[in-house]
Amino acid sequence: MARLVSARICPSQRFHVPLLPSVPPLRSHSAAGLGVGGPSFHGVKLSNLPGFVAAAGALEVPKRAPSSPASGNHLPSEEVIRTWCNADAVCFDVDSTVCLDEGIDELADFCGAGQAVAEWTAKAMTGSVPFEEALAARLSLFKPSLYQVEECMEKRPPRISPGITKLIKMLKAKNVDIYLVSGGFRQMFKPVASELGIPPENIYANQLLFGNSGEYVGFDPAEPTSRSGGKAIAVQHIRKKCGYKTVVMIGDGATDLEARQPGGANLFICYGGVQMREAVAGKADWVVSDFLELMAYLA
Ligand SMILES: [Mg+2]
Repeated sequence: MARLVSARICPSQRFHVPLLPSVPPLRSHSAAGLGVGGPSFHGVKLSNLPGFVAAAGALEVPKRAPSSPASGNHLPSEEVIRTWCNADAVCFDVDSTVCLDEGIDELADFCGAGQAVAEWTAKAMTGSVPFEEALAARLSLFKPSLYQVEECMEKRPPRISPGITKLIKMLKAKNVDIYLVSGGFRQMFKPVASELGIPPENIYANQLLFGNSGEYVGFDPAEPTSRSGGKAIAVQHIRKKCGYKTVVMIGDGATDLEARQPGGANLFICYGGVQMREAVAGKADWVVSDFLELMAYLA
């Protein structure tokens, strides 16, 4: 904690945000951005932007949402922009946000239980089933061994979402601390954190437990992210531990939305570039389909 606090610069000194940034009003461009010639943002082809990179094997075009919510929160208010630009820390969800895939779905598919587990994941993401119940049920369907996890990681490495590398680089250049807060498994996205320059101590996620022979024995229930409301607890812990004044949560699921509450995240940004969950997007402070929308206000 001491290291993080001492390394920080007063947020008000880091950002000098105009009342409105010099970018056009933001609109949903989930369809327009995928026109002929590839995805674009404000007329700029994504693949031409510096730093627009993705992990080896990653798609250059995110899996777009089939539709956008009817809410008007695609256009950020001045207050939302100011909060975003003055963040001390940004907490990112991993599955369908930092990475294109749902890690547990990928692992289940690799183990031959893809469809059944994906149905459970969909329920968990809408908040209709307690997270811990869905997590236990999904894992019990295929009981992944350590060997299977390692083999899956080798044969199906996580695919990083387009633009996330550049966004995190921009945030870190402004001395914003970056965290991964995920209901997924830290064993599966440690390489992602390493590639993005996120220290292990800034990862809040679940831990698969294995027996002496590498057999699956469960998950660590002590991890707050293993329970409904767990991300909120994790974000509150992060905020309190480091004395942050302004914390932003970015994700696509109901558990990410829960993190915005007193003592937790000041702002919830729904990232719909992979999965647009309307129940979540409708309650978000800001809905984006592309990380470039967030970068535009940091430039
Ligand atoms: Mg997610």
